[in-house]
Amino acid sequence: MSAMLLNKEKWPEFVGKLAGKKIVAPQADGDAMHFAPVAEGEAPALDYNNTRVPPKGALFPQTETMLKFQAGGEQVEEPVLDQETVVLGLRPCDARAMAIVEKLFKWDIDDPYYVRRRELTTLVGLACTEPGMNCFCPSVGGGPASTEGLDLLMVDLGENYLLEAVTEKGETLLTEIKELLEEADDDAGKEKDKLVAEAEQKIKRKVDTEGVPEGLPGLWEDPLWQKVSASCLGCGTCTYLCPTCHCFDIQDETEGFAARRCRMWDSCMFEEYTLHTSGHNPRPTRKERTRNRINHKYSYYVDKFDVIACVGCGRCTNLCPVNIDIIETLRQVNEAL
Ligand code: SF4
Ligand code: SF4
Repeated sequence: MSAMLLNKEKWPEFVGKLAGKKIVAPQADGDAMHFAPVAEGEAPALDYNNTRVPPKGALFPQTETMLKFQAGGEQVEEPVLDQETVVLGLRPCDARAMAIVEKLFKWDIDDPYYVRRRELTTLVGLACTEPGMNCFCPSVGGGPASTEGLDLLMVDLGENYLLEAVTEKGETLLTEIKELLEEADDDAGKEKDKLVAEAEQKIKRKVDTEGVPEGLPGLWEDPLWQKVSASCLGCGTCTYLCPTCHCFDIQDETEGFAARRCRMWDSCMFEEYTLHTSGHNPRPTRKERTRNRINHKYSYYVDKFDVIACVGCGRCTNLCPVNIDIIETLRQVNEAL
């Protein structure tokens, strides 16, 4: 199906057509926005910049039960993943992050939880027209209307949303709502191009990534790591809120004889993350942990999957309590190279 227009007045009807599927969309949370399931009959509002917490939890929940069992028993109960889900209105950088993370979860063996959730999920993105002050997606291969990772892209044209299918799943969704749509004309395409060009112009921050993946290993002992990590509190905010961070821990929890094995987000910025049972820690201070975080995103991931594991969303810079700025860190990396 070619590009289509959905009049905004039909937005509640569009959401109504998704009945039976779980809808996850941005919702107000005090002065911030976050992705959460939408109650039936509610139409999510898409007038927002970006959420504080990325929507990565739709595919990789912050805590998820992998199996349940009884202590001393033989029965193991595995979760049934069969809930079709639509994530509505995620930003292109966050969808790109999902495509990047999927490379790991489908690497040597498929991660059954992640892969199954992705199969059941349709990602409907919303192009950015007002990028944030620390966005730098074009520097790392993205853009305000990037479609990588998305099934369907929406662009806000004022009265209408322009809808463009990216994958078969996106096509299917358009077919399901076809009576609400009208075909987009050339003017709509031109309006989209204009809005995207304007959004690109508004992105002021830039990172020069040329030579960084290859150069980082040579900076292993460079004093810059001490300098950039000096004020770090080790709070983990930069990793929990990062759409491409995907580290997890697995723990068994018991309550009486009932037990569950669950996995939950973890952070390489925590001391315990690499603490061995022997007491040895290969990343004993925040210097080593910061060095690892940057190397992981800008060197190791490139080595393994040929893509930088940072989508330039700016969250780590926006929300670090001591203002550690990844763009400034990468400037110092470039200076040291
Ligand atoms: S958010 Fe800032 S203070 Fe917290 S761990 Fe990351 S760099 Fe350190
Ligand atoms: S490292 Fe920072 S800018 Fe890059 S994707 Fe993660 S939170 Fe966004």
